[in-house]
Amino acid sequence: MESNEREIPVLYLVVPCYNEEEIIEKTAQVMSDKLRRLINEGKIKSGSKVMFVNDGSRDNTLKLLHQISKTDVIFSVISLAGNYGHQSAILAGMMMARKYADIVVTIDADLQQDIEALDKFIDSYMNGSEIVYGVRNDRHSDGFFKKSTATAYYKLMHLLGSNVITNHADYRLMSQKALNALAEYQETNLFLRGLIPTMGFPSDVVYFDVKEREAGHSKYTLSKMLTLAMDGITSMSVRPLRMIAGLGFIVSLFSIAMCIFSLVDWAGGNTVPGYTTSIIVSLMMGGITLFSLGILGEYIGKIYMETKKRPRYIIDTFVWKDEKEDS
Ligand code: UDP
Ligand code: MG
Repeated sequence: MESNEREIPVLYLVVPCYNEEEIIEKTAQVMSDKLRRLINEGKIKSGSKVMFVNDGSRDNTLKLLHQISKTDVIFSVISLAGNYGHQSAILAGMMMARKYADIVVTIDADLQQDIEALDKFIDSYMNGSEIVYGVRNDRHSDGFFKKSTATAYYKLMHLLGSNVITNHADYRLMSQKALNALAEYQETNLFLRGLIPTMGFPSDVVYFDVKEREAGHSKYTLSKMLTLAMDGITSMSVRPLRMIAGLGFIVSLFSIAMCIFSLVDWAGGNTVPGYTTSIIVSLMMGGITLFSLGILGEYIGKIYMETKKRPRYIIDTFVWKDEKEDS
Protein backbone atom coordinates (compact mmCIF):
# COMPACT_ATOMS: atom_id res chain seq x y z
CA MET A 1 0.00 0.00 0.00
CA GLU A 2 1.39 3.31 -1.10
CA SER A 3 0.38 5.26 2.00
CA ASN A 4 2.05 2.78 4.34
CA GLU A 5 5.38 2.95 2.61
CA ARG A 6 8.11 4.66 4.52
CA GLU A 7 10.01 7.64 3.26
CA ILE A 8 13.75 7.41 2.80
CA PRO A 9 15.07 8.20 6.30
CA VAL A 10 17.66 10.55 7.71
CA LEU A 11 20.13 8.27 9.53
CA TYR A 12 22.33 9.23 12.45
CA LEU A 13 25.10 6.92 13.58
CA VAL A 14 25.72 7.34 17.30
CA VAL A 15 29.28 6.40 18.23
CA PRO A 16 30.41 6.33 21.89
CA CYS A 17 34.12 7.06 22.29
CA TYR A 18 36.22 6.54 25.37
CA ASN A 19 39.97 6.89 24.88
CA GLU A 20 39.83 5.93 21.21
CA GLU A 21 42.60 8.23 19.89
CA GLU A 22 44.32 5.37 18.08
CA ILE A 23 41.42 4.56 15.85
CA ILE A 24 39.05 7.51 15.80
CA GLU A 25 40.33 9.09 12.58
CA LYS A 26 40.03 5.82 10.70
CA THR A 27 36.58 5.27 12.20
CA ALA A 28 35.46 8.71 11.05
CA GLN A 29 36.71 7.97 7.54
CA VAL A 30 35.08 4.55 7.29
CA MET A 31 31.76 5.73 8.73
CA SER A 32 31.45 8.87 6.63
CA ASP A 33 32.38 6.91 3.46
CA LYS A 34 29.65 4.42 4.25
CA LEU A 35 27.05 7.14 4.86
CA ARG A 36 28.00 8.86 1.59
CA ARG A 37 27.59 5.58 -0.29
CA LEU A 38 24.17 5.02 1.29
CA ILE A 39 23.15 8.57 0.36
CA ASN A 40 24.30 8.07 -3.24
CA GLU A 41 22.42 4.77 -3.46
CA GLY A 42 19.29 6.61 -2.34
CA LYS A 43 18.94 4.49 0.80
CA ILE A 44 19.18 7.39 3.24
CA LYS A 45 18.69 11.13 2.88
CA SER A 46 21.47 13.64 2.70
CA GLY A 47 21.71 15.35 6.05
CA SER A 48 22.48 12.00 7.65
CA LYS A 49 25.34 12.24 10.12
CA VAL A 50 27.92 10.50 12.26
CA MET A 51 27.38 11.69 15.84
CA PHE A 52 30.32 10.99 18.15
CA VAL A 53 29.79 10.98 21.89
CA ASN A 54 33.00 11.62 23.78
CA ASP A 55 32.53 9.84 27.11
CA GLY A 56 35.05 11.80 29.16
CA SER A 57 38.11 10.48 27.35
CA ARG A 58 41.40 11.19 29.10
CA ASP A 59 43.51 11.04 25.93
CA ASN A 60 43.41 13.09 22.74
CA THR A 61 40.09 11.73 21.50
CA LEU A 62 38.13 14.95 22.02
CA LYS A 63 40.77 17.10 20.33
CA LEU A 64 40.82 14.73 17.36
CA LEU A 65 37.02 14.69 17.22
CA HIS A 66 36.90 18.47 17.05
CA GLN A 67 39.48 18.46 14.27
CA ILE A 68 37.51 15.81 12.40
CA SER A 69 34.27 17.76 12.78
CA LYS A 70 35.87 20.81 11.15
CA THR A 71 36.66 18.85 7.98
CA ASP A 72 33.09 17.86 7.18
CA VAL A 73 29.57 18.81 8.29
CA ILE A 74 28.67 15.12 8.23
CA PHE A 75 30.28 14.87 11.70
CA SER A 76 28.68 16.01 14.91
CA VAL A 77 30.32 15.81 18.35
CA ILE A 78 28.73 15.63 21.77
CA SER A 79 31.19 15.80 24.63
CA LEU A 80 30.03 14.62 28.03
CA ALA A 81 31.29 16.33 31.16
CA GLY A 82 32.86 13.11 32.45
CA ASN A 83 33.04 9.36 32.00
CA TYR A 84 29.47 8.16 32.43
CA GLY A 85 29.98 4.74 30.86
CA HIS A 86 29.01 3.19 27.56
CA GLN A 87 25.26 2.91 28.29
CA SER A 88 24.86 6.54 29.30
CA ALA A 89 27.01 7.69 26.39
CA ILE A 90 24.81 5.99 23.82
CA LEU A 91 21.70 7.26 25.61
CA ALA A 92 23.04 10.81 25.41
CA GLY A 93 23.72 10.34 21.70
CA MET A 94 20.34 8.79 20.95
CA MET A 95 18.43 11.46 22.85
CA MET A 96 20.21 14.18 20.91
CA ALA A 97 20.05 12.41 17.54
CA ARG A 98 16.29 11.78 17.71
CA LYS A 99 15.74 15.52 17.31
CA TYR A 100 17.21 15.41 13.82
CA ALA A 101 17.03 11.83 12.58
CA ASP A 102 14.30 9.42 11.48
CA ILE A 103 16.46 6.47 12.45
CA VAL A 104 19.45 6.15 14.77
CA VAL A 105 21.99 3.33 14.77
CA THR A 106 24.33 2.93 17.74
CA ILE A 107 27.70 1.41 16.89
CA ASP A 108 31.04 1.10 18.69
CA ALA A 109 33.96 3.31 17.75
CA ASP A 110 36.40 0.44 17.24
CA LEU A 111 35.03 -0.81 13.87
CA GLN A 112 34.55 -4.30 15.32
CA GLN A 113 30.91 -4.30 14.31
CA ASP A 114 30.61 -4.68 10.55
CA ILE A 115 29.36 -1.37 9.18
CA GLU A 116 28.24 -3.05 5.94
CA ALA A 117 25.35 -4.51 7.94
CA LEU A 118 23.77 -1.03 7.87
CA ASP A 119 22.08 -1.91 4.57
CA LYS A 120 20.26 -4.77 6.27
CA PHE A 121 19.26 -2.54 9.20
CA ILE A 122 17.79 0.05 6.83
CA ASP A 123 15.99 -2.58 4.73
CA SER A 124 14.38 -3.94 7.85
CA TYR A 125 13.26 -0.46 8.90
CA MET A 126 11.81 0.14 5.43
CA ASN A 127 9.87 -3.09 5.86
CA GLY A 128 8.24 -1.79 9.03
CA SER A 129 10.58 -2.51 11.97
CA GLU A 130 10.89 0.17 14.62
CA ILE A 131 13.80 -1.56 16.38
CA VAL A 132 16.45 -3.74 14.74
CA TYR A 133 18.96 -5.67 16.85
CA GLY A 134 22.39 -6.47 15.48
CA VAL A 135 23.40 -9.96 16.53
CA ARG A 136 26.92 -11.23 16.05
CA ASN A 137 27.39 -14.36 13.97
CA ASP A 138 29.99 -15.98 16.19
CA ARG A 139 32.66 -15.13 18.70
CA HIS A 140 35.80 -16.34 16.97
CA SER A 141 37.47 -12.95 17.37
CA ASP A 142 37.06 -13.02 21.15
CA GLY A 143 39.54 -14.65 23.47
CA PHE A 144 38.60 -17.74 25.44
CA PHE A 145 37.91 -15.74 28.58
CA LYS A 146 35.56 -13.23 26.95
CA LYS A 147 33.82 -15.96 24.99
CA SER A 148 33.11 -18.18 27.98
CA THR A 149 32.17 -15.33 30.32
CA ALA A 150 29.82 -13.92 27.68
CA THR A 151 28.11 -17.27 27.13
CA ALA A 152 27.72 -17.87 30.85
CA TYR A 153 26.42 -14.33 31.26
CA TYR A 154 23.62 -14.69 28.70
CA LYS A 155 22.60 -18.03 30.24
CA LEU A 156 22.51 -16.46 33.69
CA MET A 157 20.56 -13.46 32.46
CA HIS A 158 17.84 -15.61 30.99
CA LEU A 159 17.76 -17.78 34.10
CA LEU A 160 17.33 -14.71 36.28
CA GLY A 161 14.49 -13.32 34.24
CA SER A 162 16.06 -10.65 32.02
CA ASN A 163 15.04 -10.92 28.39
CA VAL A 164 18.25 -9.81 26.74
CA ILE A 165 18.91 -10.89 23.18
CA THR A 166 21.84 -13.31 23.11
CA ASN A 167 24.97 -11.91 21.44
CA HIS A 168 23.42 -8.51 20.89
CA ALA A 169 25.64 -5.71 22.15
CA ASP A 170 24.10 -2.32 21.46
CA TYR A 171 24.64 -2.39 17.68
CA ARG A 172 21.03 -1.44 17.09
CA LEU A 173 18.70 0.62 14.98
CA MET A 174 15.86 2.55 16.59
CA SER A 175 13.30 4.68 14.83
CA GLN A 176 12.42 8.11 16.09
CA LYS A 177 9.14 6.72 17.38
CA ALA A 178 10.93 4.05 19.44
CA LEU A 179 13.42 6.63 20.74
CA ASN A 180 10.62 8.95 21.84
CA ALA A 181 9.18 6.02 23.78
CA LEU A 182 12.59 5.29 25.30
CA ALA A 183 12.80 8.91 26.42
CA GLU A 184 9.80 8.27 28.67
CA TYR A 185 11.83 5.83 30.78
CA GLN A 186 13.33 7.95 33.50
CA GLU A 187 15.30 5.30 35.37
CA THR A 188 18.83 6.07 36.48
CA ASN A 189 19.97 2.45 36.35
CA LEU A 190 19.98 2.07 32.66
CA PHE A 191 20.49 -1.30 31.05
CA LEU A 192 19.46 -0.69 27.47
CA ARG A 193 19.94 -4.25 26.24
CA GLY A 194 17.41 -5.49 28.76
CA LEU A 195 15.07 -2.51 28.66
CA ILE A 196 14.55 -2.02 24.94
CA PRO A 197 13.19 -5.53 24.25
CA THR A 198 10.51 -4.94 26.91
CA MET A 199 9.19 -1.89 25.05
CA GLY A 200 7.40 -3.78 22.31
CA PHE A 201 7.20 -2.36 18.75
CA PRO A 202 7.75 -4.42 15.60
CA SER A 203 11.36 -5.49 15.79
CA ASP A 204 13.82 -7.59 13.86
CA VAL A 205 17.27 -9.09 14.10
CA VAL A 206 20.11 -8.79 11.59
CA TYR A 207 23.30 -10.81 11.75
CA PHE A 208 26.73 -9.35 11.29
CA ASP A 209 30.35 -10.43 11.53
CA VAL A 210 32.57 -9.26 14.34
CA LYS A 211 36.11 -8.25 13.52
CA GLU A 212 39.19 -7.90 15.64
CA ARG A 213 39.62 -4.50 17.22
CA GLU A 214 41.81 -2.69 14.68
CA ALA A 215 43.60 -0.42 17.13
CA GLY A 216 43.57 0.42 20.80
CA HIS A 217 42.32 -2.06 23.35
CA SER A 218 39.03 -2.97 24.95
CA LYS A 219 37.70 -0.24 27.23
CA TYR A 220 35.56 -2.76 29.04
CA THR A 221 37.75 -3.71 31.95
CA LEU A 222 36.77 -6.74 33.99
CA SER A 223 35.27 -4.49 36.65
CA LYS A 224 33.19 -2.56 34.08
CA MET A 225 32.02 -5.88 32.67
CA LEU A 226 31.04 -7.17 36.11
CA THR A 227 29.21 -3.91 36.89
CA LEU A 228 27.29 -4.17 33.64
CA ALA A 229 26.46 -7.80 34.36
CA MET A 230 25.24 -7.00 37.87
CA ASP A 231 23.22 -4.00 36.66
CA GLY A 232 21.79 -6.10 33.88
CA ILE A 233 20.38 -8.52 36.37
CA THR A 234 19.29 -6.31 39.23
CA SER A 235 17.82 -3.53 37.10
CA MET A 236 15.72 -5.90 35.03
CA SER A 237 14.49 -8.52 37.45
CA VAL A 238 13.61 -9.19 41.09
CA ARG A 239 14.07 -12.92 40.64
CA PRO A 240 17.24 -12.97 42.82
CA LEU A 241 15.14 -11.69 45.72
CA ARG A 242 12.63 -14.49 45.19
CA MET A 243 15.49 -16.96 45.10
CA ILE A 244 16.71 -15.72 48.48
CA ALA A 245 13.21 -16.17 49.87
CA GLY A 246 13.13 -19.69 48.41
CA LEU A 247 16.52 -20.47 49.88
CA GLY A 248 15.41 -19.15 53.26
CA PHE A 249 12.34 -21.38 53.14
CA ILE A 250 14.38 -24.49 52.37
CA VAL A 251 16.88 -23.70 55.13
CA SER A 252 14.00 -23.17 57.57
CA LEU A 253 12.48 -26.55 56.75
CA PHE A 254 15.88 -28.12 57.19
CA SER A 255 16.40 -26.43 60.55
CA ILE A 256 13.00 -27.60 61.84
CA ALA A 257 13.97 -31.15 60.91
CA MET A 258 17.32 -30.69 62.67
CA CYS A 259 15.60 -29.36 65.82
CA ILE A 260 13.31 -32.35 66.03
CA PHE A 261 16.22 -34.70 65.39
CA SER A 262 18.37 -33.08 68.12
CA LEU A 263 15.53 -33.04 70.67
CA VAL A 264 14.82 -36.69 70.09
CA ASP A 265 18.52 -37.40 70.41
CA TRP A 266 18.69 -35.40 73.65
CA ALA A 267 15.62 -37.15 75.09
CA GLY A 268 17.26 -40.48 74.28
CA GLY A 269 20.23 -39.42 76.38
CA ASN A 270 22.93 -39.61 73.72
CA THR A 271 24.00 -36.01 73.29
CA VAL A 272 27.05 -36.35 71.02
CA PRO A 273 29.78 -33.65 71.06
CA GLY A 274 28.68 -32.45 67.57
CA TYR A 275 31.53 -29.97 67.04
CA THR A 276 31.78 -30.49 63.27
CA THR A 277 28.05 -30.15 62.77
CA SER A 278 27.92 -26.91 64.74
CA ILE A 279 30.82 -25.41 62.81
CA ILE A 280 29.36 -26.37 59.44
CA VAL A 281 25.90 -25.12 60.29
CA SER A 282 27.08 -21.77 61.67
CA LEU A 283 29.49 -21.14 58.80
CA MET A 284 26.87 -22.03 56.24
CA MET A 285 24.26 -19.83 57.88
CA GLY A 286 26.74 -16.96 58.08
CA GLY A 287 27.62 -17.36 54.41
CA ILE A 288 24.05 -17.56 53.23
CA THR A 289 23.03 -14.61 55.37
CA LEU A 290 25.83 -12.38 54.13
CA PHE A 291 25.26 -13.37 50.52
CA SER A 292 21.55 -12.61 50.85
CA LEU A 293 22.27 -9.30 52.54
CA GLY A 294 24.59 -8.45 49.67
CA ILE A 295 21.89 -9.07 47.10
CA LEU A 296 19.38 -7.08 49.17
CA GLY A 297 21.94 -4.32 49.42
CA GLU A 298 22.36 -4.27 45.66
CA TYR A 299 18.64 -3.59 45.25
CA ILE A 300 18.57 -1.03 48.05
CA GLY A 301 21.51 0.71 46.40
CA LYS A 302 19.51 0.83 43.18
CA ILE A 303 16.52 2.34 44.99
CA TYR A 304 18.83 4.86 46.65
CA MET A 305 20.26 5.97 43.33
CA GLU A 306 16.80 6.13 41.74
CA THR A 307 15.37 8.33 44.50
CA LYS A 308 18.10 10.89 43.91
CA LYS A 309 16.90 11.35 40.32
CA ARG A 310 20.29 12.55 39.25
CA PRO A 311 20.85 13.39 35.58
CA ARG A 312 22.10 10.35 33.71
CA TYR A 313 24.70 12.37 31.87
CA ILE A 314 25.76 15.97 31.51
CA ILE A 315 26.63 17.43 28.14
CA ASP A 316 29.63 19.72 28.16
CA THR A 317 29.82 20.75 24.49
CA PHE A 318 27.88 19.99 21.33
CA VAL A 319 28.98 20.53 17.73
CA TRP A 320 26.44 20.20 14.94
CA LYS A 321 26.40 21.98 11.59
CA ASP A 322 23.62 22.28 9.06
CA GLU A 323 24.39 20.94 5.58
CA LYS A 324 23.61 24.34 4.08
CA GLU A 325 26.28 26.08 6.09
CA ASP A 326 28.81 23.97 4.24
CA SER A 327 30.95 26.15 2.01
N1 UDP B 1 33.00 3.12 25.78
C1 UDP B 1 32.45 4.28 26.35
N2 UDP B 1 32.60 4.51 27.70
C2 UDP B 1 33.23 3.59 28.53
C3 UDP B 1 33.73 2.40 27.94
C4 UDP B 1 33.59 2.19 26.57
O1 UDP B 1 31.87 5.12 25.64
O2 UDP B 1 33.32 3.85 29.72
C5 UDP B 1 32.84 2.90 24.32
C6 UDP B 1 34.13 2.55 23.58
O3 UDP B 1 34.81 3.71 23.17
C7 UDP B 1 33.60 1.74 22.39
C8 UDP B 1 32.38 1.05 22.99
O4 UDP B 1 32.01 1.78 24.15
O5 UDP B 1 33.17 2.58 21.33
C9 UDP B 1 32.63 -0.41 23.32
O6 UDP B 1 33.80 -0.52 24.10
P1 UDP B 1 34.93 -1.61 23.80
O7 UDP B 1 35.12 -1.78 22.33
O8 UDP B 1 36.13 -1.23 24.57
O9 UDP B 1 34.26 -2.90 24.43
P2 UDP B 1 34.31 -4.40 23.88
O10 UDP B 1 34.04 -4.35 22.40
O11 UDP B 1 35.67 -4.89 24.20
O12 UDP B 1 33.23 -5.08 24.66
MG1 MG C 1 34.92 -3.31 21.00
